[in-house]
Amino acid sequence: MSTIFTKIINGEIPSYKIAEDDDFYAFLDINPNAVGHTLCVPKKEVDRLLDLDEETYQGLMAFSRKVGLAIEAAISCNRVGMTVIGLEVPHVHVHLIPLNGMQDATFQHKVSLSPEEFTAIAEKIRAKIQ
Ligand code: AMP
Repeated sequence: MSTIFTKIINGEIPSYKIAEDDDFYAFLDINPNAVGHTLCVPKKEVDRLLDLDEETYQGLMAFSRKVGLAIEAAISCNRVGMTVIGLEVPHVHVHLIPLNGMQDATFQHKVSLSPEEFTAIAEKIRAKIQ
């Protein structure tokens, strides 16, 4: 059975899309630690980061860097942090999180956003993708 992220990539489940190429897809995390919290996912369905083949791993890092630079340009923050967890969704994803303090990296403090706010944030970040 497909993962929820494959369903998002295939358009079966909606997402606030940030970027896409042949191999990767980026969208806003629906339960964000901070405004602009984004997930970067390889289209290839692999559970664990370190099980990715070398090319996909390097490609995911390059794609995440491009998206992270756009987040930094669009969202006021001290820096963009990157983390990989994967305990909830068994499909590799890089969390890109705008950080203003350690609390933004803990996954204990969440921000609540309306659909209109998610849409506006995604548009802002998309406009900065190079
Ligand atoms: P983890 O697998 O522990 O790295 O966490 C999975 C992340 O995916 C969490 O931050 C969730 O909020 C996020 N997530 C789960 N379902 C969706 C969805 N449908 N759209 C966007 N983000 C999601």
